Amino acid sequence: MKISTLYKDKEKTVLSFEVFPPKKTSGIETVYKTLDALVDLHPAYISVTYGAGGTEANNTGVIASYIKKELGIEPLAHLTCVNNDKLTVERELEEFKSNGIENILALRGDIVPDIEPKKDFLHASDLCSYIKARGDFELAGACYPEVHIEAKSMVEDIRNLKTKVECGAEHLISQLFFDNGAFHNFMDMVRCAGINVPVAAGIMPVTNTSQIQRMVSMCGASLPAKFSKIMQKYENNPEALRDAGIAYAVEQIVDLIANGVEGIHLYTMNNPYVAKRITDAVGSLL
Ligand code: FAD
Repeated sequence: MKISTLYKDKEKTVLSFEVFPPKKTSGIETVYKTLDALVDLHPAYISVTYGAGGTEANNTGVIASYIKKELGIEPLAHLTCVNNDKLTVERELEEFKSNGIENILALRGDIVPDIEPKKDFLHASDLCSYIKARGDFELAGACYPEVHIEAKSMVEDIRNLKTKVECGAEHLISQLFFDNGAFHNFMDMVRCAGINVPVAAGIMPVTNTSQIQRMVSMCGASLPAKFSKIMQKYENNPEALRDAGIAYAVEQIVDLIANGVEGIHLYTMNNPYVAKRITDAVGSLL
């Protein structure tokens, strides 16, 4: 099933999840256990991230195949190109195809300090064009409500986003954000620029303080005063921090749905408990 078809019913909000492959030190079964719990929450689709180091660093195809074949849910396999050349991309596409994977989130990927980027694909849009010419995959792309950290301006970033859509991205998933105002402004600009594909808002329930610092330094998400105050108040009380993080994410989702968001993509951090609390809270609103 092509994921864009899930967006046909304009009255509904599409709820999807993201999981990541386990680190090399823990077995692949750990993510299967997570997925077996997530399936009961009935997400519309589940995406699987792709390790920043390239093909050797992950099991994206294997996990996506498990989601499709064992759980009967549509997977969205992430694929990055910064550390892949045409040959390795070709191999990944073959593996995806043989596992019946139809949906790919085409990404450039983060530049990893110790790895020299490959030169075959400079931007995600190059990967989109390459994949489109090769197989019957449906493509998604990433977008940035608070501007991608390397972009000089929002205008430039949105111009590049439009190129990505023209190269084949049929729906978009946003970077995480904590300030809904930023997402609403971004959506106004995206539509003004003539980008009309569905956009899912990426929501990360923050459940520990080290997670916030890592995320903010990686993606530059701004922290509204309200959010920072909650995190400071409960930084030494893990249970309260987790509950406050869940409550904050729920409040974000309620506002987004009230404002007509097309999709919510929940960064589950492989934590089915948190995903369940959020899904239970917003299930009747979707
Ligand atoms: P691009 O779309 O190529 O954009 C990168 C930068 O280049 C931007 O500043 C953009 O404005 C600029 N640009 C784009 N096109 C052009 C052009 N034609 N000409 C000039 N400039 C251009 N990383 C992983 O390693 N693995 C994952 O699984 C993963 N999953 C992600 C999922 C989501 C939903 C998001 C939002 C991010 C994810 N990332 C992942 C992180 C992502 O790889 C980084 O944010 C990366 O820095 C940019 O990737 P991109 O696909 O958005 O790149």
